[in-house]
Amino acid sequence: QAKRSGRNAIRFFDPATHAAMEARIALEAELRRALPENQFKLYYQMQVNNLGAVFGAEALLRWLHPERGMVSPAQFIPLAEDTGLIVPIGLWVLETACRQLKAWESDPGLSCLHLAVNVSACQFHQADFVDQVSTLLTEIAIDPDKLKLELTETLVLGDIDDTIFKMQALKKIGVRFSIDDFGTGYSSLAYLTQLPLDQLKIDQSFVRNVAVKPTDAVIVQTIIGMATNLGIEVIAEGVETEEQRTFLESNGCFTYQGFLFGKPVPVEEFESALNVKIAAKLST
Ligand code: C2E
Ligand code: MG
Ligand code: MG
Ligand code: MG
Repeated sequence: QAKRSGRNAIRFFDPATHAAMEARIALEAELRRALPENQFKLYYQMQVNNLGAVFGAEALLRWLHPERGMVSPAQFIPLAEDTGLIVPIGLWVLETACRQLKAWESDPGLSCLHLAVNVSACQFHQADFVDQVSTLLTEIAIDPDKLKLELTETLVLGDIDDTIFKMQALKKIGVRFSIDDFGTGYSSLAYLTQLPLDQLKIDQSFVRNVAVKPTDAVIVQTIIGMATNLGIEVIAEGVETEEQRTFLESNGCFTYQGFLFGKPVPVEEFESALNVKIAAKLST
């Protein structure tokens, strides 16, 4: 019997695989409790233009686990996607981001800030996704064009008809769209022109070596040229050095996000970093 089922049977009893499976089951049970037990938090990473002005932020999810400490999204987002837990978690992210925009609205120093929010494929392709977003915007009563949804190329191409339909519906309300990690997927000019896009976000893997690796420099220049010709904004993520920023600026990319400007931080820290910048501007 064991012989006939071959390699698979042996792999099933592999203790390493078994341990990995148990760890995954444990993590899944903990992830299920994370939302009702308020263990999620949004961090904010500033987005700046070439004049140094902060025009917005990307909201990045953090899981403050009671024993494991801070669990990175790279470790739990894939599991949340596999189990469908990303749907309620993603809704919590959207709601929290909208409430943050609302809170900023009443502060003259912060009222023009925009927020970018990451959306997973299975969340976006839910039948009621458009309803959920529009209900949130109405209930919380914020300016819809301050909300930018970040979609990946894989999400967009997964079900292109559903994508176009939903993007157009949300676009009508005023919501904006960015393609995240741009350049890492199977991009095609044909679909890009069909989508109501506001922004392309150059993936950090190209930004990292832009000043030292000629092929990455060409990719970045091509993406900037493409966005410019399509009349949409282009932003670079993962900008860590002045050298990278200078390359981007001299090639026509005028908005940036990365450790050079600020790491993702809790909202209090984000606001005080902004106040420091405003104070510095006023004193010069
Ligand atoms: P992403 O949307 O591409 O976010 C950018 C990631 O790059 C963030 O990692 C950010 O902390 C990191 N980063 C920013 N600037 C720099 C830099 O200068 N250098 C380097 N080395 N890294 C930089 P993070 O926060 O760990 O998030 C990882 C990924 O998890 C995100 O990639 C996104 O795909 C996903 N994610 C985060 N929050 C959410 C969420 O609320 N919903 C969904 N569906 N996915 C999320
Ligand atoms: Mg993103
Ligand atoms: Mg990205
Ligand atoms: Mg990324």
